[in-house]
Amino acid sequence: MKTDIEIAQEAKLEPIHKIAENLNLSKDEWEPYGHTKAKISNHLLHTLKDKPDGKVILVTSINPTPAGEGKSTVTVGLGQALNQIGKRAVIALREPSLGPVMGIKGGAAGGGYSQVLPMEDINLHFTGDLHAITSANNALSAMIDNHIHRGNELDLDPRRIEWKRVMDMNDRALRQIIVGLGGPSKGVPREDGFTITVASEIMAILCLATDIVDLKSRLARIVIGYTYNEQPVTVSDLKAEGALTLLLKDALKPNLVQTIENTPAIIHGGPFANIAHGCNSIIATKTAAKLGDYVVTEAGFGADLGAEKYFHIKSRVGNIDTAAVVIVATVRALKMHGGLAKDKLAEENLEALKAGMKNLKKHMETIEAFDVPFVVAINKFPTDTENEVHFIENWCEEQHVEVALTDVWASGGSGGIQLANKIIAKTESRKKSFKPLYELEDSIEEKIRKIAQTVYGAKDIELSKHASKQIKLFEKQGWNNLPICMAKTQYSLSDDPARVGRPEGFTITIRELRASIGAGFIVVLTGDVLTMPGLPEKPAALNMDVTADGKVKGLF
Ligand code: ADP
Repeated sequence: MKTDIEIAQEAKLEPIHKIAENLNLSKDEWEPYGHTKAKISNHLLHTLKDKPDGKVILVTSINPTPAGEGKSTVTVGLGQALNQIGKRAVIALREPSLGPVMGIKGGAAGGGYSQVLPMEDINLHFTGDLHAITSANNALSAMIDNHIHRGNELDLDPRRIEWKRVMDMNDRALRQIIVGLGGPSKGVPREDGFTITVASEIMAILCLATDIVDLKSRLARIVIGYTYNEQPVTVSDLKAEGALTLLLKDALKPNLVQTIENTPAIIHGGPFANIAHGCNSIIATKTAAKLGDYVVTEAGFGADLGAEKYFHIKSRVGNIDTAAVVIVATVRALKMHGGLAKDKLAEENLEALKAGMKNLKKHMETIEAFDVPFVVAINKFPTDTENEVHFIENWCEEQHVEVALTDVWASGGSGGIQLANKIIAKTESRKKSFKPLYELEDSIEEKIRKIAQTVYGAKDIELSKHASKQIKLFEKQGWNNLPICMAKTQYSLSDDPARVGRPEGFTITIRELRASIGAGFIVVLTGDVLTMPGLPEKPAALNMDVTADGKVKGLF
């Protein structure tokens, strides 16, 4: 069997101007970035503001195994399938982070015959947007430390600085550091730490900004820390928003590429879904909706994380109406939720599969609670047996739920035609907008409780002393009407990654909150989830290489 990278390297790419021309983009609406990538102008959304939007289809999934359940693969495959049946589809995806690429995942550009290309570039430095976000973030850190060094006119308490440095890598050694050591000429010592770029507030801001003016005002509102009197200090107090916006001006433009079947794909922004809000940029999704009759987009990890935040954060801010949802399920992950050990997932086991269906059921209930129609997609793996696939199909039929066996990994778009037809039928039945599960006017605690109970199935939440104190402080500042960005493990509906399936009677522990006022949400950290991941025992990086003639190896 060929690997993802072998398939990708055999594909025939169209020059990017062909893809742009097929989308009817005029010369001043896009600019080439090499031969196979382009940046789309931010003016396009303004120029096309009166054009009706295409229908948005969201791809989400059950709680995943560490290898991922193939959401990106299904997203790309569905886009290709829609094009094969004569619809004009545009894909909107997140940009991969180097952390997981070097760590477990080895790449995140889809798989098999459903990939976005050039996968080597997309998985590595792409068009530099993540570097721009990292630079903007760290420019702010440097300006904060310089401000304190130069006399600290704003009275910033060095012990209360919330702003962290970032880098786009899994690097646990940088989670907690001390900066400014070495005497007066080296700055003022204080505790600091690194977050991975894709969990940074600037990444969230780039993904939620509707244009450059909105970008600048969001950057200005970032709270960097507190004074000795516990008053918030913002980027605008530091007068840094102009420089940060400047560093991000090109990163704000969405990137145009293509799939293996030359379907247009817009890849822009890449927040993680466990520790951040998990969706590509609003600008990318809206641009795709102006250019296509259908947009297929994805939210990270399971529906408990990505889809919840897609609706409550991204859709609210961007006024995005989602016509239908695809819930991706795999035989292997369902068996894992039925209690089967990781090294046994490739063997047929109908008992485990049956026991694991309750995880899918919970996510179906969540999408139903948002009142959006859905189709279950079984992402077919070579190890799935006919009995196992039939079992899921029959189970869905008994539940009166539409299901489509999807083979886009092995067959490309033609493996997703059934899914495409079923999802189109669902989008046609839809007339109204999604129903949020909490109101912005609810208290911070009530919002967290509603998410925990309705989406995770928790009995209740438990706030640490620190979290309770923070909630009081945030309410005093008038930040209680913001949506919540939950940070929780992706492996379980609970905050304990070991509790697979559909745990019951559990409590979600709220450890700490962070006020992302520029992004416009309150981050809520549950369990012991961290915002800087570490590398695994055998990082995917160990298999990576490049040959003397520049051929990339080991990405997948
Ligand atoms: P997710 O978006 O859910 O994290 P991806 O689409 O990135 O998952 O897929 C994760 C990995 O699994 C990729 O390496 C991809 O090639 C592989 N994969 C996905 N679907 C299949 C499939 N049906 N058969 C075999 N491998 C698959």
